[in-house]
Formats: sequence, C-alpha cells, structure tokens
Amino acid sequence: MNFQQQLAVVEGLGVPPDTQMRMDCPFCQNKNTFTVTTTSNSIGWYCFHASCSAKGKKNGEKTMDYVNVTFKKEDIKPQEEFKLPDSFKIVHSNQKALQYLHENNCWEACMWGRADIKYDVKQDRVVFLVKNPNTNKYAGAIGRGLNSKVYPKWYMYGNKDIPFKCGECKDAVIVEDCASACAVSNILTGIAIMGTSLKESHKKYLEPYETLYVALDRDATRKSYIIASELTSAGFKNVKVKVLHEYDLKCYGTPEIEKMFYKYEKEITKLKREICELRQDNRRLSKQVEDGVDRMRKAGVI
Ligand SMILES: [Zn+2]
Repeated sequence: MNFQQQLAVVEGLGVPPDTQMRMDCPFCQNKNTFTVTTTSNSIGWYCFHASCSAKGKKNGEKTMDYVNVTFKKEDIKPQEEFKLPDSFKIVHSNQKALQYLHENNCWEACMWGRADIKYDVKQDRVVFLVKNPNTNKYAGAIGRGLNSKVYPKWYMYGNKDIPFKCGECKDAVIVEDCASACAVSNILTGIAIMGTSLKESHKKYLEPYETLYVALDRDATRKSYIIASELTSAGFKNVKVKVLHEYDLKCYGTPEIEKMFYKYEKEITKLKREICELRQDNRRLSKQVEDGVDRMRKAGVI
C-alpha cells in the first residue's frame, strides 16, 4: 500500500486531534501493534509488528484556513445528515453479509428492525447505519469488511462522534463493535464505541440508562475497568464492568445474554415467589389449626 492509500485508511479511523492511540493494526491485523498520534494539524502512524511496513506522517499547514476548516468541520459534523451512498444495497443481496449476521448473532436485531443493516457493494462490507438520536436521521455508518483483503477491518463512514446504538432497553452495555451491540439488543441496549477507548463525544449518549455495563471483548477487560472509572469520575453513578470469561458478546444468543446479565435477578424473582407461596401456605395451615381447636372446644374435648 502506498502512502496515500495508507493515509486514507488511517484518516478513516476517525482519531480525534491531539490523541495518541494504540490499537489493532488495520493493515496486518495484529493485536495492539498499531499507534496513531495526532495533533491539531498532523497525523502519524506506525505498526510495531516486524512483518508490517505500515508507517507515515502527514503534516497540515498551520494557516488560519486550516484552523477554520477544522473547526467548522467539528461544529457542523454532528448535525450533518449522512446521505446513504448508492453502493449501499439491501443486506439480503449478499450471501456473505447474511452469513456474517447469522454467525455473529445480529440476524434477530436486523429482522426485528432494531438495527438498520446494509451491504456496501463497493467496499464489500456489511454496514451498520448510525442514527443521530436527537434528530433520528442517519449520521454515519460502520462497515465490517467481508474478506481479508478489505482494509481496515472496520470502516467508519460519515460522522464518527456518535456511537452505534441497538435496542431500547432500560439498561445499556458498552461494547467494542456493532455485532456485539446487536447480539445483546433483545435484553440490553447495545452501544458500540468501535474500539476500546471511549470518546468524550460518546458520553452524552450514555446518560438515559439505569445501569451502564461495560463489556469490551475478552482481551480488553483492563480497558473495561478504565472506561468504567472514567465514567464514574464523569458523574455516572450506575456503571458496572461485566467481565467476559470465555467469548465476546457477539458469540452469544439472547438466552445466554439474559442469563449472563440477569441470572441473579431471575433467581431473586423466583425466590420471592416461593416466599410468597410459603406465607400463603402458612396462613392456610394456621387457619386450619384454629378451626380444629375451635371444633374441639365446642365438642368439649378441650
Ligand atoms: Zn501492522
């Protein structure tokens, strides 16, 4: 890949200005070998993996024009409506896209309309559409490559500040990617932050929930705790980390998700019902004893 192609991929990651980020390499796919460093007018990237030659840096001109453009973009973007490209087709038009949805427990969310999913014929990606919850209009999209030649594996179209949300439940769980958000959405609202770091801009979309779980993929449990403490310091009082011991959330169907998050709630409800039944039994028995004693009294036995 030449410099311009690499630059396009790295810019597509949507790293905000003045950020240093470490992540899985979008070029060689190795875990956590890739760094991106940005300032207000430059972007640099480097992969530490021995087999990978991804690296580069682009400096912008520090003119007022650049500053204006950057600030204008920042100001306007969140409100901007995302026009779906012509290359977005219905997801049923591609067998691999359907297979991806089935294998990653997204099918139910798609069928019930909890998620808006398309197929991008141009980039060979299954695409999850992101809506702006304030305007209910499309703000962007997140596409998962369907073959190993598609870089990066996940690509963000349009707005990158609004997380992908799936479901309308009272509790929410912060997950890494759209597939996991869809997999949980019958039980909890899934919110995908596309990676393992929370953006400042994500926080306002996390407010309306009773309990906010953080459940990043299994290999990022430490990051889950970091996000939970960030949220707690930002004033969220309801944050819990859900440690995943075996697989990522997209590997589970609805019944397993329910068991994972609400096992104790179910057991408590069952116990409460049993206690209630025992109390009723107790009242019935006491009444029988009283009646018996009454009858014996009347018969002069006691
Ligand atoms: Zn690499």
